This record gives sequence, C-alpha cells and structure tokens, in this order.
Amino acid sequence: MKRKGLLLVISGFAGTGKGTIVQELLKKYDNYALSVSATTRDPRPGEENGIHYFFKSREEFQQMIRENALVEYAEYVGNFYGTPRAYVQEQMDAGKDVILEIEIQGALKIKEQFPEALLIFVAPPDARTLEARLTGRGTETAEVIKKRLSRAVEESEFMSRYDYVIVNDDLDICVEQTHHLIQSEHFSTLRSREFIETLQKDLKIFE
Ligand code: 5GP
Repeated sequence: MKRKGLLLVISGFAGTGKGTIVQELLKKYDNYALSVSATTRDPRPGEENGIHYFFKSREEFQQMIRENALVEYAEYVGNFYGTPRAYVQEQMDAGKDVILEIEIQGALKIKEQFPEALLIFVAPPDARTLEARLTGRGTETAEVIKKRLSRAVEESEFMSRYDYVIVNDDLDICVEQTHHLIQSEHFSTLRSREFIETLQKDLKIFE
C-alpha cells in the first residue's frame, strides 16, 4: 500500500523553538518536506528568496489569492503570509509529510479545509522559561519582547484547538516525541479510510 503524506501544522509562541524542532526533523528523517511560504514582509538579513520565504509585493500576493494559488493566508503584524498550494499537493502525493510552520489563524483555516491535517502546538514548560528564552536570544529590545509575550497570552487561548501540545523542555527529547507522534498518526482510522474501504471491498469475496 502506498502511503500518502500527512499535512502537518506546527505552531507555537515566538521563542518556543518550533523552528529548531522543524529543522531537526528535516535533518534527521527523510519523510518530511517543509513548505516555503509567500510573504509581503521584507527579508531579514541572511534570508533568501525561495529558501526562507518567497518574498512578494502586495500586488503579487493579491494575484496569488485571486488565482487560488494559496491553501491559506493570514495577516500577521501588518504583513501577509500564505502557503502555496502546488508544493503542498505535490509533496503529499509523493508520500512526504508536509510541514507548515504557520501561525494560529492559518492553522485553523487548514483544519477547516483538511480535517485530517495534524495540528501540533509547541509550548514552553512554563511562562518564566519563555521569558528567559526570548531575553536570552539577545536580538530583540525589551519592548519587542514585551509585545511577543503579550501575544503569547492571546495565542494561548487557542492552544486547545490543536490536536496535540508538545512541551519543548529538552530539544532532543522533544524532536523524538514529535517524530513518533506524527508517525503513529499515520495509523489512525481517520487517515486510513482508503485502506479500510479497499479491504472491506476485497473481503466481499467471502460473503
Ligand atoms: P516571521 O515574520 O517571524 O517569519 O513570521 C511571523 C509568523 O507568521 C510566524 O508565526 C510564522 O509561523 C507565521 N507564518 C509564516 N508563514 C506563514 C503562512 O504561510 N501562513 C500563515 N498563516 N502564517 C505563516
């Protein structure tokens, strides 16, 4: 039986290490493919077009919406972000588990369109650890850190809409737990409908 890829959504507050978890999954296992989003925000130093994002003008982004080229899109802090449809479809058909590292509004839109998508929320062990991680990066001002923490308060309201919450305490353990969780989900009856139907039909020979 050819295995179809899962659609995975990974979200989490800024500073929970979701990006690192995703990079580790891609490095360690070959069953994953990461979707590169389109965005209207400006590239940060070191970011490359087509690798970190597809950087688009507002007009180009609107055009993608009109052409139905995005699976979902959302506005986040004044910029648009969206998931290109073609890549997601191609990779899932090829059997890859496709990771979307997106924020909450987009995650919920994905769940509406694809009820079999798996939504994972990466959380810090507690509030003070989140604060310490954001401060420890040393890249943001106190004001930005405060904004991100208050955004975490808002976002935490939606955590229970996700299928699973993974606590990032020890990175290696967290990566393993996430990988095993995803692999087990392939066997859920919700995601085995095609197999179940085919087997049921096959079994009719014994009626
Ligand atoms: P940043 O500007 O820091 O790269 O991303 C800001 C937020 O947008 C992050 O929470 C990130 O996960 C989210 N994001 C990135 N790409 C997409 C996308 O295609 N769709 C949605 N809905 N959110 C995205």
